[in-house]
Amino acid sequence: MATPAQGIARLGFRIWYERQLIEGHVWFVTAFLCAVLIMALMEELNLRGPGPLSLSSLAMIVVAALTGAVALRRYIRMLGRAESLAEQCVCPDCASYGVIRVLEAGRVDDDEQPQWIRVSCKKCNSEWRLEST
Ligand SMILES: [Zn+2]
Repeated sequence: MATPAQGIARLGFRIWYERQLIEGHVWFVTAFLCAVLIMALMEELNLRGPGPLSLSSLAMIVVAALTGAVALRRYIRMLGRAESLAEQCVCPDCASYGVIRVLEAGRVDDDEQPQWIRVSCKKCNSEWRLEST
């Protein structure tokens, strides 16, 4: 998985941001479908009934709940990160939005993605630093 700095450097900020929104919403739809599956399985679930059917339904509910939780967490994280970086992508000198060049990136700790990205404006070459959440 590419870090935000790698993605922005490769695609440009605007395309990277658009793809983050699309991918984030795919995760949201996944979480929603898991919730629908859980509700459908709950309707079928009968804990007093014969074992195998109830146990398989219960197992599917647990798997759907875990998948849905992971998908919802990724959705929230992706959108939060994309929005946070988008708010910082306005050039402090010429006020251009999203017209940036990645100069370097680094990590504050051992998290997956860089916590800071040093960028410059493609229009006026002003430099500033983005902080990733
Ligand atoms: Zn500028």
